[in-house]
Amino acid sequence: MSPPLPSSLGRLAGALFALALVPALAFAAMQIFVQSESERQLADLRNEQLEGLLFWVNQNSWDTASVWADRLARSGASPDDATRFLQDTPAVRSVLEADSTGTPVQWSGDEAPPPVPEAVAQRLLAQHQVGYRKIEPVALEDGTLALTFAADGVAPDAPPRLLAMIVEPDDLLDTAVLPTLRDQLRGSVAFGIFREDDPSPVASTPGFARVNVEHEAGLWLLPGHVAGIRPEGASAEASMRRRLWQSLLLIGGVTAGLGVGALLVWRGVRREIEVARLREDFVSNVSHELRTPLALIRMYAESLQQGRVPEAKRPRYYDTLVAESERLSRLVGNVLQYNRFERGTATVDRSPVDVSEIAAEIADRYRPVVERDGGTLEVDLEDVPTVAGDRDLLSEALVNLIDNAVKYGGGAVEVATRATEKAVVLEVADRGSGIDTADLERVFEPFVRLQPESDDGLVHTAKGTGLGLALVQRVAVSHNGSVTATARDGGGTVFHLSLPTDA
Ligand code: ADP
Repeated sequence: MSPPLPSSLGRLAGALFALALVPALAFAAMQIFVQSESERQLADLRNEQLEGLLFWVNQNSWDTASVWADRLARSGASPDDATRFLQDTPAVRSVLEADSTGTPVQWSGDEAPPPVPEAVAQRLLAQHQVGYRKIEPVALEDGTLALTFAADGVAPDAPPRLLAMIVEPDDLLDTAVLPTLRDQLRGSVAFGIFREDDPSPVASTPGFARVNVEHEAGLWLLPGHVAGIRPEGASAEASMRRRLWQSLLLIGGVTAGLGVGALLVWRGVRREIEVARLREDFVSNVSHELRTPLALIRMYAESLQQGRVPEAKRPRYYDTLVAESERLSRLVGNVLQYNRFERGTATVDRSPVDVSEIAAEIADRYRPVVERDGGTLEVDLEDVPTVAGDRDLLSEALVNLIDNAVKYGGGAVEVATRATEKAVVLEVADRGSGIDTADLERVFEPFVRLQPESDDGLVHTAKGTGLGLALVQRVAVSHNGSVTATARDGGGTVFHLSLPTDA
């Protein structure tokens, strides 16, 4: 269990993250706002452009009709003039001249064409009178289209004439409208010419239907017809939107990165605080560990020195003195050795060592100690190959493991050795309350001492510094080996110290 952390640390990490988050959110909001504003402006601009385009198409076709009208007006009224005009202008089927009531008075074909509505005739002549010429497309009764206009009389003092060029709508489209659309808008704009209320086009770029129309306008020369267009390719809005998404993704990525960074910093700081606390605990543990045996030794030694101990009790006093001073030197030895490993000044001997022999020797030495405390120590040692190792360090590691098995393992200690294909494994097993799976690796970290989950108080009362297993691990690593702890079937823990034979 890690020590509780100051809530200010969490607040600090939160503040750091918020510090990164607030500008990111503000920037994202600004981007979205600027985007929608620019999109609106762009859409306005685009509509204006499309409108201008359609105006230009109308203007162009109007100009074409105007050129025809000029020619017709310049030519006389004779049938020869009309024939020549019709030859040069194939889009015009026939021409007619009407009086002020719209009734045809001269025409180019065989049959008399239908009249031009009188209102139109009157209006065009009146407009001509004030110097304004307009070509008015008029749908005649026979379904043809008459581009009607007023022109000066042939003789200088003759009254104005009402002239009309009779065209087929499709011919007019082909000659006056579509060439402009095709030539000028090629590639950049898709278009279609539609009859009003008809979704399929009269003429269009491939695959263009009414639903594709983005902007449309009525055709001046062709009443009942509209031209619809739509720019091809990705619109500027679409690319802006793509860029906005890229920016938002980037902001999101950077913020996430900062978040991860803040989390890592927070975890790092938390770890540092944890280590600092463990060190603090270590110092007080060591002081305590030193004081208790020292006090005992001093008390027993003084009693002996002053002759206050009866003869019969003396052997127990001597045993205690030896045991406590051994414990003291083990403790000091552990701290010093750990320190040497940390500073990189530890020397590791590489002589052939028989691990089973070391285990037997240590087991014999410790059995009386274990048994005195009511425990048992059993060995199961195989003939194993030698390893290149440091006898003292390996003995120290084994003593630490046995010491732990006695302290935390309830007293029934089993020491075994076995050979695997490439290593000699030394195992120390106990029948204690075991170690939580989550802590099986953590126990090897320096200064870590577990709090017991059960109420038996074993670990609380057990003496220690939290350095024993860390030292075992360093010894294992210095021999290119490893040490692991596993939960034992039926309760307890097994520590496996594995030493490669070829190292
Ligand atoms: P120390 O024994 O000085 O506390 P160690 O590094 O030897 O330090 O052990 C670290 C911790 O691992 C111990 O405090 C104890 O909580 C736990 N531990 C070690 N050995 C055993 C064991 N055999 N059974 C249960 N817990 C153990």
